[in-house]
Amino acid sequence: MKRTLFLAIFCLLMVSALAPSRLIAEKPNFVVIFCDDLGYGDLGCFGHPSIRTPHLDRMAVEGQRWTNFYVGASVCTPSRAALLTGRLPVRNGMMSARRRVLFPDSKGGLQKSEVTIAECLKAVGYATAAVGKWHLGHLPEYLPVAHGFDSYWGIPYSNDMDARRGFPNYRQAGRKDPNYVAPIEQYQVPIMEGTKVIERPANQHTLTGRYTEKAVEFIRASKDKPFFLYLAHSLPHIPLYAGKDHRGKSRRGIYGDVIEEIDAGVGRILTTLKELKIDEKTLVVFTSDNGPWLPFNTHGGSAGLLREGKGTTFEGGMREPTLFRWPGKMKPGVQMEMGTTMDLLPTFCSLAGAKTPGDRTLDGFDLSSVLLGKEAKGPRDRVYYWREEKLYAIRVGAWKAHFITQGCYGIGEKKTEHATPQLYNLEHDPSEKYNVAGNHPDVVKKLVAAADEHRKSIKPVADQLIRR
Ligand code: MG
Repeated sequence: MKRTLFLAIFCLLMVSALAPSRLIAEKPNFVVIFCDDLGYGDLGCFGHPSIRTPHLDRMAVEGQRWTNFYVGASVCTPSRAALLTGRLPVRNGMMSARRRVLFPDSKGGLQKSEVTIAECLKAVGYATAAVGKWHLGHLPEYLPVAHGFDSYWGIPYSNDMDARRGFPNYRQAGRKDPNYVAPIEQYQVPIMEGTKVIERPANQHTLTGRYTEKAVEFIRASKDKPFFLYLAHSLPHIPLYAGKDHRGKSRRGIYGDVIEEIDAGVGRILTTLKELKIDEKTLVVFTSDNGPWLPFNTHGGSAGLLREGKGTTFEGGMREPTLFRWPGKMKPGVQMEMGTTMDLLPTFCSLAGAKTPGDRTLDGFDLSSVLLGKEAKGPRDRVYYWREEKLYAIRVGAWKAHFITQGCYGIGEKKTEHATPQLYNLEHDPSEKYNVAGNHPDVVKKLVAAADEHRKSIKPVADQLIRR
């Protein structure tokens, strides 16, 4: 009797000791690979005819290729804020009419009161790392280590900032030569580790390769616990640089070399996950912060069949080539349901058993049921296209209404406020060529009402992007 009782207590103790670690082991790892200014048409699996992306193409075959996946804004800073907080950047001051992104002289950044994916996951035992471009504030209180990341290695803002005089104009030099590479001294961009500058100017020739190394190092070190890796490549934002193994190798000039090097890095990450036998425990997401920077000619990417690019609220500015891969968990194929980077926070929280912040408006939806094939229909039926502090357009189902249209950075189409919104059916006309507002006044009315309703949910907040 005594012996049985002893055994029962022993078993109970063992079960309770093992339970938490077993629960943690079941939590999936998350890897987000986020490019900068990559266009919808720049990958082999999204139709590019002269850039080779075998690893991303494999990821598309083994996972899901999302064809209606959006970002929260068409330029760097607000788009990154949207991904990490699951909120439209107009809700947290990361979108402004005065300056569209943060600069080296900015004093603002992502506020401490914001809750990031890293913070949500850290609360349930995740190891977290940010590698690459941050661009949510370079002062210590705004850096990744102040926002839930255990470590940070990368550049704090864009790779074309801190520019010095006395060098060739990049746009002009690049227009003459699709293989043009600028001297690294032209851009005094620092590399930071945690909150310290460790290299300046960053040797940008080796940056993509070093990001991949840092990512692989973190994955190896974290293989026994759940982890979240945010790998934000600083390319293909100009100036373009490629490592020696990739320079001059693609058919598409230096731009193609850059994409092929990023692709090789994705290959290394996928191989590492397999080698460590955590492939089936890891959801990998690949996308970009905004569309291609078209005024840079062959040094900018391609939005494929989508209209316009970076900086605009046309599809080319905000719809991104997106891949999700989770072997054994997801049904592979093409996914045409709508998603956005803001959906990653609620999706990851749901898969990890973590809490989403309940005291604020979130703009993301949990995509896990559609990712895992439990539902055919996704939870998202609309997208809001904000630029500066105005709602320029809205998509509901197949329909998109433009209230304001404008080219990128003072180039191309002038700013036009439309008394009658332009209306496009994005399923019949993904290139936004045929304005059909005249044929569908009822649809226009519905979209105007939906936009009015949405605007009411936005409360004024302090602008973080103004120079102070
Ligand atoms: Mg960008």
